[in-house]
Amino acid sequence: MSGQLYDVIVVGAGPAGSYIAYELSSSGYDVVVFEEKSAPGLNVCCTGIISTECFQSLDCGTDVVLTKVNSAKFFSPSGRCLRLQTKNVQAYVVNRLLLDKAITSKAQSQGAQYFFSSPVIDIIPGKDSIQVETLCFGAREIFSTRAVVLANGFRPKLPRKLGLGKITNFLVGAQAEIEVKNVDEFEVYFGQEIAPGAFAWLVPTSANKAYVGLLAISQAKLHLQKLLNNLSGQGRITSREVEIGQKAIPVGTLARSYGDRVLVIGDAAGQVKPTTGGGIYFGHLGAKIAAEVLDEALSSDNLTAGQLSRYQKQWKVKMGKELSRSYWARWAYGKLSDRQIEGLFNVFGSNGMAEVLLNSGDFSFDWHSKLILAVLRHSSVYPLLRIRHLLFREVSS
Ligand SMILES: Cc1cc2nc3c(=O)[nH]c(=O)nc-3n(C[C@H](O)[C@H](O)[C@H](O)COP(=O)(O)OP(=O)(O)OC[C@H]3O[C@@H](n4cnc5c(N)ncnc54)[C@H](O)[C@@H]3O)c2cc1C
Repeated sequence: MSGQLYDVIVVGAGPAGSYIAYELSSSGYDVVVFEEKSAPGLNVCCTGIISTECFQSLDCGTDVVLTKVNSAKFFSPSGRCLRLQTKNVQAYVVNRLLLDKAITSKAQSQGAQYFFSSPVIDIIPGKDSIQVETLCFGAREIFSTRAVVLANGFRPKLPRKLGLGKITNFLVGAQAEIEVKNVDEFEVYFGQEIAPGAFAWLVPTSANKAYVGLLAISQAKLHLQKLLNNLSGQGRITSREVEIGQKAIPVGTLARSYGDRVLVIGDAAGQVKPTTGGGIYFGHLGAKIAAEVLDEALSSDNLTAGQLSRYQKQWKVKMGKELSRSYWARWAYGKLSDRQIEGLFNVFGSNGMAEVLLNSGDFSFDWHSKLILAVLRHSSVYPLLRIRHLLFREVSS
């Protein structure tokens, strides 16, 4: 195996890595994917909420869907509830194990080869090829390839080793799957005591099961434990034992997502919505753009950093502004006190403003910056004025 020169080696069989493996193998390239886990989608800490746009683009069939979302209850720090509903389905909750398996199967059906239980431990750039060092079932092996795609999630070691920089801003997500009663709708909780700098959620996945989770700037597990205790106290949790998983989520982008013979996609590149921590769709868009740029580079045998820099230009055009506006909006939200967040609920709840925004052309499940700007137009209201002030001060400093 290791004597052969592959066209592309992908590091990581998450949604981004397997999707690019699918695209490139469909174009006829020899693609190999190395994944450190023993199978795709094992023990993934993720709620799996994706927009209808993302669901259609992934094209993995309805077997991966747990539930559909067209309404949600938003709770203020004091417990005030704002319920919003749309006529159409806005999002799907997908089972990550099944989703990752489905994308892997699609790639395999196009000829991509997978090596599981095979962590990549080093990448050594060369002039005519690039070497990938792995531990295949514990045995050290070196593979040669024309190009490498890093799709290994938020793990700074390999990008940093290749001189591509390091993402320093991140949130921590924690989640548990629980048995519940009386949970029939998506619930979102706000408040700096509940989830500092972000929010918490309760997402039903079947008649008596739900994900409860949160994003926070720190101590996510501890805050989730408090929320679980709270929900238990309300008699809504019926599980005896709860296992909490946690994972860091990048909320900033890699300085360079390309190098000689290398591209970086998905969480590894910071292609994640900073408002919600959702990375499946933006990583998928990154994978699509990377596949197009790599196809051109492989067919012209020009895999220099100069040629591959087109990837970064293109994905920044597609989602750069969105990521940076959302980044600052979430940052400014993190500076608000619970009283000010309560004030926001008063604004949105009192005169039907939330419904107006929801039904306006500014609302999109994936693209939040239009909505953020629309909200900031109501800047005569104090909490929004403060967000606007913080945003402009930070962006112009
Ligand atoms: C609590 C929580 C809830 C979330 N909920 C949502 C949600 O509802 N919707 C949404 O869109 N996003 C959500 N996310 C984010 C989402 O999970 C990620 O954005 C998404 O998984 C990123 O996909 P990826 O393919 O880039 O990376 P990953 O899914 O992280 O896949 C990377 C793969 O690379 C493998 N790997 C790593 N290093 C190596 C190595 N050296 N060698 C070989 N293999 C390696 C890993 O084992 C992994 O399988 C959530 C995250 C958290 C923490």
